[in-house]
Amino acid sequence: MPRKTLIKKCAVCGRTITSQFAKYCCDCALLVIHVNRAKLPRKAARRIYRYVRKHGYVCYYTGMRLDVTDSHSPWYFVLDHWKPGDNRKVVLTSALINGMKSDLTEREFWYMIRQLADFKRLGTPVRKIRLSLWNREYIKGCEDIEVQVSCERKCCICGQPVYFYNAQFCRKCHLISRRIDESQLPLEAAKSLWDYVRKHGHVCYYTGMPLDFDDYRSAWHFTFEHVAPGDSTKVVLASALLNEMKSDLSEDEFWYYIKQLDNYKRKHTGIRKRKLVYWYRLHPVKDALGAQML
Ligand SMILES: [Zn+2]
Ligand SMILES: [Zn+2]
Repeated sequence: MPRKTLIKKCAVCGRTITSQFAKYCCDCALLVIHVNRAKLPRKAARRIYRYVRKHGYVCYYTGMRLDVTDSHSPWYFVLDHWKPGDNRKVVLTSALINGMKSDLTEREFWYMIRQLADFKRLGTPVRKIRLSLWNREYIKGCEDIEVQVSCERKCCICGQPVYFYNAQFCRKCHLISRRIDESQLPLEAAKSLWDYVRKHGHVCYYTGMPLDFDDYRSAWHFTFEHVAPGDSTKVVLASALLNEMKSDLSEDEFWYYIKQLDNYKRKHTGIRKRKLVYWYRLHPVKDALGAQML
C-alpha cells in the first residue's frame, strides 16, 4: 500500500507547504514574526492574516506586489499603522510607501499626493491642511528669540530687517544659521544652503510653500533637506512633511512616484517600479532574524 502523503497548508495564506513540521510557509513565518514583534492586538493580527489570505503580499494602499525576501528593497513588506499611533488597524505596505505616508492618515496621504502632483503638473499651489495626527518635532529654538521692531540694518542673506539691532541676520536666517552650527553642516553645504536662501527666500525647495519658523511641531516647519540623499554638498530648505515624504528618494525619483501614485488613485493605473539609486534601508526584523540564523 503506498503511503498517503498529507497535503499541508500554510495557516496564514493557505498555500501548500512541503515541510510536515511547519505551520506556515516561509513568507508567512516572517510575517508572523513581524506581527508578534509589533505586539498587535489579536483582532488587528487576525485582520492582517485574513488580508494576506485574500490578497497575498500586496500593498494595501497601492495594490503593488511586495517583496518578501530582500529587506533592503523599498518594496519590502512592512506593517503600517493605518491611523498613526493606533495599533488597532495595521495594514501591509512597502517600506517606501510607509516612509512616504509618515504620520499622515490615509485620507491626508492621498490629499498630499494629489496636491503635490497638481503642483508639479499644473503649477497650482499646494494647499495646507491641518494634519490631525502629525507628531514629529524638528528644530526647537525659535521660542526664545526676541525680535526688536524697526531695526534698520538689513540681513546679510535675504535683505530683511535684522532681528536685533547689532545682529547680522533676520530672525529666520538667524534660526537657519543656528541650525547650521547645531547640525555641524560642512562648509560647502552651508554655502549651498545660503545660496538657496538668497535665491529663493524662506520657502520649500520642492513646493515653493512658505515655511514655518515659529512652531517646531508643525509639519510645515523648516528642515534641512539633502537633495541627493547622503550627499551633503547640496542642502535646501523643505518642510518637515516634505522631508519625510521624500525619504531616501532623489528629487527625480520623488516626483516620479508622486505622479505614479496620483495616477494610480485617479485612474487606477498600475504603479511602475523604478530602481532607486539611494535607497538603502534594512528592515530591523529581517535583520535580527538573519543574525539569529548565523
Ligand atoms: Zn503562507
Ligand atoms: Zn535673512
